Amino acid sequence: MSRQLVVFDFDWSGPFSSLSFQTHDCTRTMADQDTDRWVFEVLAIDIRRQMEDLEKQVQWTDLVAKSLREAHARGIKREQIENTLRIIPFHPAMVRAVSKLKAGGKTTFFCLSNANSEKGLENLFDEIITNPAEWTDSGLLDLRRRIDPSGPQHNCQVGCSANMCKGEELTAFFERHLPDFDRVVYLGDGSNDFCPVLRLREQDMVLCRTFGGLHKRIAREGNLKCQVKYWTHAWEVEEIFNTL
Ligand SMILES: [Zn+2]
Repeated sequence: MSRQLVVFDFDWSGPFSSLSFQTHDCTRTMADQDTDRWVFEVLAIDIRRQMEDLEKQVQWTDLVAKSLREAHARGIKREQIENTLRIIPFHPAMVRAVSKLKAGGKTTFFCLSNANSEKGLENLFDEIITNPAEWTDSGLLDLRRRIDPSGPQHNCQVGCSANMCKGEELTAFFERHLPDFDRVVYLGDGSNDFCPVLRLREQDMVLCRTFGGLHKRIAREGNLKCQVKYWTHAWEVEEIFNTL
C-alpha cells in the first residue's frame, strides 16, 4: 500500500493526546470518551444531565453551544475547560496504534468529527473538519454548526445531522487530495458515520465500534462495498492497525 488514509470520527478518539495535545474534538475514538460530554461531567453535572434530557429535542451542536454559554454565565473559566481536556484518559493501545502508523510515513490522518472543536491535534492530523469554535475575550467558547442554520443546508438523504454531512465532507476531502488513496480506513461509531462509510470502496475498510448507531445502521441497512471490521476496545484497534 503506497498511499493510505485513516479517517477518525474523533468524537471518541481519545488516544492522541499524548502525541500532541490540546483538543476537544476527535477524541472519543481515542479516549473512549466523548469530549462534548466529558467537559460537563468534570465541571457541571447538572448541565451534563440537561444535555441528556434535551439530546433528542435539540440539535447536538446547538445543545453543546448552549451548555457552554451556561457554563460561562456561571463563571466556569477557559482554563478549567482546557484542563478537563488535558486530563481526559487516552488509551495507551490507541496511542501506540496511531503512533506506529504515523511513523511509517505512508498514512494520512483525517479527523472528521461532529463534535465540538477548537484547535488541536495538528501534529497528528493532516486535516481536521469539525464545527468551528473560538474563544471570545470574555472566555466563552463560542461554538457554531459547520453549516450555518440560516444559510443553504446540505442535501443528504442518508440522515446526517443538520450541522454537517460527513459523507459530503469525506468526498470533498478526496477531491482536495487527489490522486485517490490506495486504501481508506475509517474508524467510527455513530449513526452519522454511516453516510461517509457508504461511500467507501471495496479495498477500503470501516472499523466499526460494536456499540453505537453505526453498528445498528450497518446491521439494519447494510449495502456497504467496503470491508467491515468490528471492535470494542482500543487494543483491538491496535491489533488491526498492526496489519495495515
Ligand atoms: Zn450525509
